[in-house]
Amino acid sequence: MNKFSKKTAKGMSVALTVAMGAACSALMLGCAPVEGEPAAQAAAAPEAPTAETPKSEQPDQASPGAASTGKYSPVKARDRDFYAPNTEDLGPDEMRLVACGTGMPTARPKQAASCWLLELGNGDKFIFDIGTGSAERVSALQIPYNYLDKVFLSHLHTDHFGDLDALFVGGALAGRQKALRVWGPSGATPERGTKYALEHLQKALTWDLDGRQGLTDPRGYHMEVNEFDYMGMNEIIYEENGVTIRSFPAIHSLDGPVSFVVEWNGFKFVFGGDTYPNQWFAKYAKGADVAIHECFIAVPDMIEKFKFTPQGALAVGTQIHTAPEAFGKVMSMIKPRMAVAYHFFKDFDTTAAISDRIRTTYDGPLSLSIDYMVWNITKDDIRVRMAVVDEDVWPPPATDKPQLPDPNDRIPYSDEISSGRLNMKKVLQPTYDEINKQYGLKEKQE
Ligand SMILES: [Zn+2]
Ligand SMILES: [Zn+2]
Repeated sequence: MNKFSKKTAKGMSVALTVAMGAACSALMLGCAPVEGEPAAQAAAAPEAPTAETPKSEQPDQASPGAASTGKYSPVKARDRDFYAPNTEDLGPDEMRLVACGTGMPTARPKQAASCWLLELGNGDKFIFDIGTGSAERVSALQIPYNYLDKVFLSHLHTDHFGDLDALFVGGALAGRQKALRVWGPSGATPERGTKYALEHLQKALTWDLDGRQGLTDPRGYHMEVNEFDYMGMNEIIYEENGVTIRSFPAIHSLDGPVSFVVEWNGFKFVFGGDTYPNQWFAKYAKGADVAIHECFIAVPDMIEKFKFTPQGALAVGTQIHTAPEAFGKVMSMIKPRMAVAYHFFKDFDTTAAISDRIRTTYDGPLSLSIDYMVWNITKDDIRVRMAVVDEDVWPPPATDKPQLPDPNDRIPYSDEISSGRLNMKKVLQPTYDEINKQYGLKEKQE
């Protein structure tokens, strides 16, 4: 019998004892009801800090908190049950996964499109998909951009790479002083491959990039594109620093989409991207610690809320994408320590239908994901929480010294445009004087 700690949607911790091989924590909404669970046990004392609980959160010995005394104090903080970015160390044998986009192609305030940040205890960080709206979520995590230089694209739908330009340029501006490395699949023709898409994306950014020459640290405005064969069967596409990433094909829209498997330190993380249920996922995702697979809105809600025709809802909701019942079936086949469903609008009136349908085919650990859901994964536990983010956050400081650009690299205005400048010398000189004095400089106006 293992301890199975479980969190409710409101974050209340309850201790449960279940006959399961692996221990996990999961949101109540997303977790299988445990057969024969005595209801009274659910009201047990607050969960003791686990090995993953940061020291700062553990009740201190001299003044025991609620966890050790069983009493609450009117002046002492209780254990925190949310994730605050930039406040927790990651253990050497721990992974942290953050949902930075869980929604649909049309991004909305509550849900950006597909994006997943995987942080490893060895310091490596990987972004899987960077769908529309997700760059903002990534920024909320307060991670220096020099560490956010590796992106893996499951396929070239905009809901899976629509914010690559934002991460590319915005990241370089905010401290990524090296090329952005991107891995993505080939297509059935060269024009349908990642290389073609990203070469043209960079061409589309010509005006943007030209205008920054000579003004900012130039090192980040490059992309290293690594296109790999979309037909590769669990083939290695990345192997560095003890981390191996493989890809295998997905079935979605056209030839080209893939799924990824990350292996590190005995952990296995799988990101499916978009796919109809397929035999390769069933094979290569088996036994994953965390397996993310798409799960579409239930067909009746596609008709009612999305205004699909019944025929269209059946086709898109069950054949192009994976219906909740089919998601459950796939997870029953691979039996992950934690199944993660995404690619649906998660609302008060859509979630129950998705959950009920998944539960007709799967009764294991489950997270119905939403943006800013966070998983801390160790060998003994998977802790699931929500991140609480600061809307006022600024980009974190650059981790390396900025390189001053060569002003000679600037592309000048034409004489005609230049001649339209109003004379602001008198107005601006006090600012030059102020900054020159403060920093010991001799900067002059143009
Ligand atoms: Zn897609
Ligand atoms: Zn998609």
